Amino acid sequence: MLKLQGKAGTPSTSRPASPLNAPAPKERDRTDEIQILPVQGNVYLLAGAGANIAVQIGDDGILLVDTGSAPLSDKVLATVRQLSNKPIRYIVNTSARQDHIGGNEVLAKAGTKMGGGILVGGYAGDGAMVVAHLGVLKAMSAPTGKPASAPSAAWPTDAYPGDSKELYANAEGVELVHPGAANTDGDSLVYFRRSDVVVTGDIFSMTSYPVIDIDKGGSFTGVLAGLNRIIDLTIPKDWQEGGTMVIPGHGRIADEADVVEYRDMITIIRDRIQDMIRKGMSLEQVKAARPTRDYDGRYGDPTLMTEAAYREISRGR
Ligand SMILES: [Zn+2]
Repeated sequence: MLKLQGKAGTPSTSRPASPLNAPAPKERDRTDEIQILPVQGNVYLLAGAGANIAVQIGDDGILLVDTGSAPLSDKVLATVRQLSNKPIRYIVNTSARQDHIGGNEVLAKAGTKMGGGILVGGYAGDGAMVVAHLGVLKAMSAPTGKPASAPSAAWPTDAYPGDSKELYANAEGVELVHPGAANTDGDSLVYFRRSDVVVTGDIFSMTSYPVIDIDKGGSFTGVLAGLNRIIDLTIPKDWQEGGTMVIPGHGRIADEADVVEYRDMITIIRDRIQDMIRKGMSLEQVKAARPTRDYDGRYGDPTLMTEAAYREISRGR
């Protein structure tokens, strides 16, 4: 599926080696676990640091989508530095999950806001701008009756309400789409219009069923709607592999066909559960009947998703 693949240390064949961004050999060894994979256009994938991290590079600087797990922050920063020595301008978070926002503090601190208005909404100051849906700020700052789940230095500095936000970075439009409550109530899809890459966060995963946080406003039908939004954004290349590239929350780089397959699987599972509910089956009976059995080998434990689907469908009908 993926045609362009490289290992850390050889990020791209088209970029001339520069003494500025060539890491010392020791540094390279240290970051061996995190792989740099060219995706398309200006966008790269950093794999192996928790959730997938997308990196857009260009003359203006660096834009990151998600920052991986906290313990790997320094390695992530060192790996980003193998791609570009420009300042980190923007961090976009696709949700408030720990393996997506864990590096925010370290990476934002290492960055610099725009001072010259080259990026839309840019302003002078220390640290990168952290952009996410308002639901992410709420989840990180003040869960009801509990201490904040993340240090304030990691919080979004620019939290958007509503269903979309536009950025302009490195000569391309970047669209943030909030498809409504999906895995949580603060999910964003990130669409790089010129590079033609969609970063999906956990709405789409190559390695697991959707992890639906009902307690955090997540919804099974919302995930289905989110998957359909991704399919709306992507355009396949003449019945072949390729076209719009898709970076899932976890797992390998994908394209529209992979998302369609996943959406169809979720739809089939929904129909099966719906049918079982119509027959009067309890949640325990539905679980025992294993409506996901033919997919469990690939996607693992379906319990969370089955429970979310059961509750929603039985409530709704
Ligand atoms: Zn995740």
